[in-house]
Amino acid sequence: MIKKELDSFYINLGIDQRLISLSKNIESDLSDRFGQIDQIAEYNQLKVLHAMQKNKVSDVHFAATTGYGYNDIGRDTLEQVYADIFHAEDALVRPQLISGTHALTVALAGNLRPGDELLSPVGKPYDTLEGVIGIQETKGSLSEYGISYRQVDLKADGSFDYDKIKEAINPKTKLATIQRSKGYANRPTLSVEQIGELIAFMKKIKPDLICMVDNCYGEFVELIEPSDVGADLTVGSLIKNPGGGLAPIGGYIVGKSEYVENAAIRLTAPGLGKEVGATLGLNQALYQGLFLSPSVVSGALKGAVYAANLYEHLGFGVLPNGSEDRYDIIQAVTLNSPEAVIAFCEGIQAAAPVDSFVTPVPWPMPGYTCDVIMAAGAFVQGSSIELSADAPIKPPYTVFFQGGLTWHHAKYGILMSLQKLLDKKLIQV
Ligand SMILES: *Cc1c(COP(=O)(O)O)cnc(C)c1O
Repeated sequence: MIKKELDSFYINLGIDQRLISLSKNIESDLSDRFGQIDQIAEYNQLKVLHAMQKNKVSDVHFAATTGYGYNDIGRDTLEQVYADIFHAEDALVRPQLISGTHALTVALAGNLRPGDELLSPVGKPYDTLEGVIGIQETKGSLSEYGISYRQVDLKADGSFDYDKIKEAINPKTKLATIQRSKGYANRPTLSVEQIGELIAFMKKIKPDLICMVDNCYGEFVELIEPSDVGADLTVGSLIKNPGGGLAPIGGYIVGKSEYVENAAIRLTAPGLGKEVGATLGLNQALYQGLFLSPSVVSGALKGAVYAANLYEHLGFGVLPNGSEDRYDIIQAVTLNSPEAVIAFCEGIQAAAPVDSFVTPVPWPMPGYTCDVIMAAGAFVQGSSIELSADAPIKPPYTVFFQGGLTWHHAKYGILMSLQKLLDKKLIQV
């Protein structure tokens, strides 16, 4: 009875019966996989709950502070909760960290000094960091402050180039930045275990090297986090995984006390550090989002795995593929034509809770050499833990998508993407 009602609701929403049947087959093949994802979420839910209980999270922590924000116990306790979840000495979790890029910038600028060198042993970092580091000449970059940069690319098979990394580490090398997620690059995402091996290797060569991990899109995907395998600093955005869709802004930096304090001093001011920073009533959303995050991340992961399997079945290139392990929530699908990319994004947009009536179109976005199309109907602007898709309109016409605050929304979005492709006769089922 319920199944019949569900099918007819999908049909009323414009989903073709053939897609519903295909979806059912794919979904039933994924039951073991989804069971595993649920177990990881269960484990991480306990981790979060335990940290909240240990720190006696209470109603008083949700009160708003203003002005300097002295004695904001909600803020200080939230930071202790993050430190416990990540098994780190300390944490900086602030609405004043306005994005992931900003959190990474603060962690880098707070811990590097003129004459130091920054190393990326995993290839080119995320686009927005090119300006921060000065790979692209940019006003205010680390390079302008006399901080040099060296990069060792991953080998063709995606593994670490240990020989070149060893060669690159020199007396000036102060900090190594390791990006866990592939982001929008064409390389594998690193598992936490692989990150641990890389850190151990580099620390053997230089024990006082600060190892920082860009953890964006990776939180709660595995049982452990980079801070569990030797990362001195782990950094991310609250409008991605750990904000659980409820955080309206924010970033986090967790790790060794000294390095977190250095970042705090850069965020606020020398002599002030972590002591200041009003939270303006945002604490409750940051706590509640963190509480929901393991479950939200599991929904996004199921959506990614489901999409990989459906699109793989239809003959499209998918990264990661339908069966491999996942270390972040991003899914890439290569659709081979601009029409298919646009149709995919139209489907994601049409399935959104917000702005479902809007039609996404490619536009010449600053900083890109070709037009870019973006689909997002989010409660929080730019939030990519909410279901969203982006694609540069250029060969091989790959769309990157991620998020979904619930598995059922992710599923509907992916079905809508297929429906738009079917409507335009770009797929056959
Ligand atoms: C999203 C992301 C960033 C930057 O975060 P913003 O919040 O968009 O500034 C950095 N690194 C990776 C790997 C990311 O996915």
